Amino acid sequence: MKTSQSSISFLAIVVLPLVMLGGCAELQPSSQPMIAKRTQMHMGTLVTVTAVAFDTQVSDRAVQAAFDEIKRLEGLLSTWRSDSELSQVNAEAGRRSVQVSRETFDLVVRSLDMAQLTRGGFNIALGPAIEAWSVTERPQVPDEHVLEQLKPLVDWTTIQIDKKLQTIYLPYKGMRIDVGGVGKGYAADRAVEVMKRAGAKGGVVALSGDIKAFGVLSERKGFPVGIRHPREEGTLIGIIDLHDEAVSTAGDYERFFERDGVRYHHILDPRTLQPARGCQSVTVIAKDGTTADGLDTGIFVLGPESGMALVERLPDVEAIIVDANGTLRVSSGLRDRLGVP
Ligand code: ADP
Ligand code: MG
Repeated sequence: MKTSQSSISFLAIVVLPLVMLGGCAELQPSSQPMIAKRTQMHMGTLVTVTAVAFDTQVSDRAVQAAFDEIKRLEGLLSTWRSDSELSQVNAEAGRRSVQVSRETFDLVVRSLDMAQLTRGGFNIALGPAIEAWSVTERPQVPDEHVLEQLKPLVDWTTIQIDKKLQTIYLPYKGMRIDVGGVGKGYAADRAVEVMKRAGAKGGVVALSGDIKAFGVLSERKGFPVGIRHPREEGTLIGIIDLHDEAVSTAGDYERFFERDGVRYHHILDPRTLQPARGCQSVTVIAKDGTTADGLDTGIFVLGPESGMALVERLPDVEAIIVDANGTLRVSSGLRDRLGVP
């Protein structure tokens, strides 16, 4: 018998309440840190920004600056808007190279670096295959032949970049690039920068499961975040205090459907164009959100052994991997930091 089920959940990581600082800003004496916190919908997800300052005006301004920056990036990096730079690169696939801004170019270069690091596990050219699956809109397994034909179009190694001219060229018609896989992490990084410039002493930017924290809180070592259990909603597998760093999770429970008892989820293995099978969830902690966001997907595809080996090789990168059997693996630099929920 065929069964079909779709599910969307955005609770990969939970920013825990800043209990040590007490209630709302208005009630605190002015020598105490003031907290401003707001949630809005951007980049297709709930974005919560928290800023800590010694003045409510400063914390409010920092939160607003963060949202303005995220909105700017949404316009710059989106591929659903035909006027964005990357949409132009995609529209010219197979025809000519397109010059883009320094910012877009640098993010594409960083994405390609992450593809290299994860041996193609993270792939910004995967769009045609992601669309063929459309996991959340259409709970259907695509035809093998259809996927096979897409393989040349998703080969990221054919992307041509010219560092001097700042151009990107996709050699085949139908190819396209999409930096959505690092977009939220990058937006978190940028938002933190503008909050610092606005005078915030600390804060957290959370684009659903992509979170970056900075600064310190009085009476607490860092900003506490909980990592959710990939199979038991509402259960945490650990708590970490974030310092000046970012965390990001890729999980097979975020977007999936089930067919004949098999889970088909949104993270594809670029070699097979089938859902990657080695992990249930991968949480990466890195200095910046762009790295954390790209690596979680790439490591998910690499699988628990190769993925953890990569984490151990990279400086300033830690990970928590729940493998396909549900076994928890924690990188060496994180073992002393992972708190029990
Ligand atoms: P989210 O988009 O929820 O932050 P991730 O950071 O885990 O989630 O990225 C997953 C998204 O990236 C998928 O929804 C899909 O659009 C795309 N994707 C799927 N597989 C890959 C892959 N191997 N490399 C790069 N992007 C991928
Ligand atoms: Mg990711």
